[in-house]
Amino acid sequence: MTENKAVGFRDADAQAVLAAIDADETIAFLQSLVRVPSVNPPGDVVEAVRACRVPLDGAGFAVQEYTHAPGKPNLVATWGNQDGPQLAFNAHLDVVPIGDESAWQYAPFGGQIANGRVYGRGAGDDKASVTAQVMGAVALARSGVPLRGQLAVTEVADEETSGDGAIHVIEAAGLNPFGVIVGEQTLGRVAIGEKGTAGVKITVFGRTAHGALPWEGANAIEGIGHVIVALTKELQPQLAQRTHPYFKPSSASVNLIDGGVKANVVPDRCSIFIDRRLVPGEDPAETTAEIRLIAEQAIAGLPGMSVVVENPQEAIPATMSDPDGALVKAMVGANGYLGFSTELTGFSMATDGRHFAARGIPTIIYGPGDPKLAHVPDEWVGIDEVLDATKAYALAALALLGTGGE
Ligand SMILES: [Zn+2]
Repeated sequence: MTENKAVGFRDADAQAVLAAIDADETIAFLQSLVRVPSVNPPGDVVEAVRACRVPLDGAGFAVQEYTHAPGKPNLVATWGNQDGPQLAFNAHLDVVPIGDESAWQYAPFGGQIANGRVYGRGAGDDKASVTAQVMGAVALARSGVPLRGQLAVTEVADEETSGDGAIHVIEAAGLNPFGVIVGEQTLGRVAIGEKGTAGVKITVFGRTAHGALPWEGANAIEGIGHVIVALTKELQPQLAQRTHPYFKPSSASVNLIDGGVKANVVPDRCSIFIDRRLVPGEDPAETTAEIRLIAEQAIAGLPGMSVVVENPQEAIPATMSDPDGALVKAMVGANGYLGFSTELTGFSMATDGRHFAARGIPTIIYGPGDPKLAHVPDEWVGIDEVLDATKAYALAALALLGTGGE
């Protein structure tokens, strides 16, 4: 038996685990999951959890459900040595609404196979990751390879809305993982963390007047216009400079505007919402203060106007795991062993990973599928991508929990 020190497992063990992955069973399981319309809202995942239990119960996992709201069980399935170090997989079972059904060529909940892909809402986000995690874990169990640690597969509700499923699992299930692999669409690349969010609402207050007598008022929409121009000129060039070796640059996008009451009334209030995404190293309070300063200066010369800048939701810094840590190395090692990408990246969207990272648990994001296909009509994931991720999850867990690296 050869020892492969670079990846932390023996070739023979890896081959036993890979041989335990059944491609047809894996893709049929993904199809069965897509056929469960776990749309959030309302976010009922009872049937999706039931579907996950079939292979997990069958492989002998200890399966528990932790329910945080009616119709919202969160699945935790464990395998291995409960006295050893624990690794957690995490992905989500809820999906976003389908939008305008006429925009779909494939049935949104058909799980249809065409062009080497599985189509449907959630095919990629996030049931491809759920599938790969569950079937990767099942392969590890079926292989019979002994583990010194324990794998905890957590598949949760409410990722697309509140994150309450992941939070509940962390609090109720008594998990104590040394690392978490969160399944989201990374195109099979290893994301060592995720960007932060510090959304900002800017409201300019002016003075109302008859639309025919605008000099009597202070037009808040015009005030916001000054703010937007100032953000474009002063903030955007700065953000473009805030690059990071693994992440896309820091960003801000004005995504909502609200102002005006009537065609012939000078508006006394106008607000915008800026979707602000942070790279590691940026402080949410500082990034909000920076926008506040620009907004205040933009309207300083405008008579009768004032501005309020606030964070409507909790602002959260970016997360990042140690690129040289065991978790990252195991995932990269698994990818390398399988001939997949070993390039590190950062995830641009928010994931449930932030709830684990906020508790000091090293967290990475890895999964099949393209994030650009999430939340759109005719969402799909490649069959090969799902099978590749299944293998990679299983081998990463083998590296971290097996005896080959001892
Ligand atoms: Zn997702």
